[in-house]
Order: sequence, then C-alpha cells, then structure tokens
Amino acid sequence: MRSRTANRSGIVLRRRVTPAGDILVTLLTPQGKLKAIARGGVRGPLSSRLNLFHHVGVQIYQTPQNDLATVKQAVLEGALPSLAQPGRYAFAHLMAEFADALFQEGEFSEQAFDLFAGALRGVAHQPDPEWVALVMSYKLLALAGFVTQTARCVRCGAPEPEHPDPLGGQVLCRACAALPPYPPESLAFLQGAVRRTVRESMAQPLPTDQRPALWRALERFVTVQVGNVQSWRQLVPTAVSAMQDTLRTSDVA
Ligand SMILES: [Zn+2]
Repeated sequence: MRSRTANRSGIVLRRRVTPAGDILVTLLTPQGKLKAIARGGVRGPLSSRLNLFHHVGVQIYQTPQNDLATVKQAVLEGALPSLAQPGRYAFAHLMAEFADALFQEGEFSEQAFDLFAGALRGVAHQPDPEWVALVMSYKLLALAGFVTQTARCVRCGAPEPEHPDPLGGQVLCRACAALPPYPPESLAFLQGAVRRTVRESMAQPLPTDQRPALWRALERFVTVQVGNVQSWRQLVPTAVSAMQDTLRTSDVA
C-alpha cells in the first residue's frame, strides 16, 4: 500500500486543539464525513482557516499506517460570519453536533452535505434561526433513517396518538399518556416533518411557546435513537429551560 494525497472540500463540524498544538478537525464533505489532523496547525495559517462552520478545501495526506489523514493545506471556500451572533451560534453548533452524531464516514454523502449546508445558511440568514434549526433537525434525522412514529401510539399501537412521550420523544395515545395532548399545530408539524418540504415548513413557523415541547421531544428521541448529542443542553436556550422540567422529573444525567 502506498501513501496518497487527495483534495476534499467540506464544512468544519468539529475542531479541537491538542496540548501539542495540533488541530483535530471533522469535516462533512459530499463524499462523507472526514476526520483529519493538522499537525502543529495552531501556530500556522491553518489555524484561522480550519474554524468551526468554515467551508474549506483541504489537501490531505494519508498513509496506510495511520487512519487519521493529515491536513497539508487548507483554503477557505466560504464562511458565514453571522453565525458568530449569539442568537445564531448556538443553533449552528447544535446542527454541527447533530450532523456529526448522525453521519458516519462515507455514508449519506451528498444529500447529507447539501442538507447540512442549507441548514447552516438558514441559521445564518433567516430571521428565525430557532425555527430553521427545529425543521432541519427533523430533516437530518429522517435522512439518517430516524423517523418519529406518529401514525400509532409507540407503546400500545392505538391509531392517531396526540400526546407527548416524555421518555422516547415519540407520540402516545390518550390511554398511555401522562401529559396533555400536543396543540394541533405541533402535532401537524411532527406528522409532516418528513413529508413536507423545507420551504413549506419554513412558511409555517410554530408559535414560540409551542417549541420547548418539541425541543424536548427531539432531545429524548435523539438520545434514545442516536445517542447523546454532547452539548445539547448548553446550546439551545429554549431547550435548556425545557430540559430543566425534565431533569426534575427523570433520571436524565
Ligand atoms: Zn397507547
């Protein structure tokens, strides 16, 4: 086997600087997720280019002995400076954590990249970044094969469930539920989250007071189906207040 060099283009999902001054990055590219290391990168020009949410073109070098590719060069292909705004940063960060948890190397490639890139642009530019994040979270989940069951109660199978499922983030029938039903708009959102286009969902934002319950359902659903998205609770202000209710009544650590 020989060493090889390749050019890839992708968005920085995750960035960590090691004590040695290396930068470990995870990129989402149209060919799938890619992890790489920029050795000594924190002291050079790569440092500012390999920033979170940057779209970069990288030249990577891979040896058969090491499964972590080395970044030799990086050029900035696109940036969304408005993502640094406090009201947008948290949602962009959540989208990146989400994409990192959902997509494996080589999987769901081009569609996942396009959807994630669109989600970041929406969070950067739309007047309601929280709504973009909710809509796109369900879209990303569906693309990865995780769909909330809304046709039947997840516990007993009864048709047309309407109540929140505080443990699994699915939907329960009246007999199985302990919480009051979702408002009709929230229920319609959950039922149509996969089928509706992004454009249709964006045109029908839910009132803000209905969103904490959906963030909570999403958090439970993702935790049960995908695994913990690490910084979830620090990231989304509304989700944090919603989570505090759950923390009081369950063993979520
Ligand atoms: Zn039931």
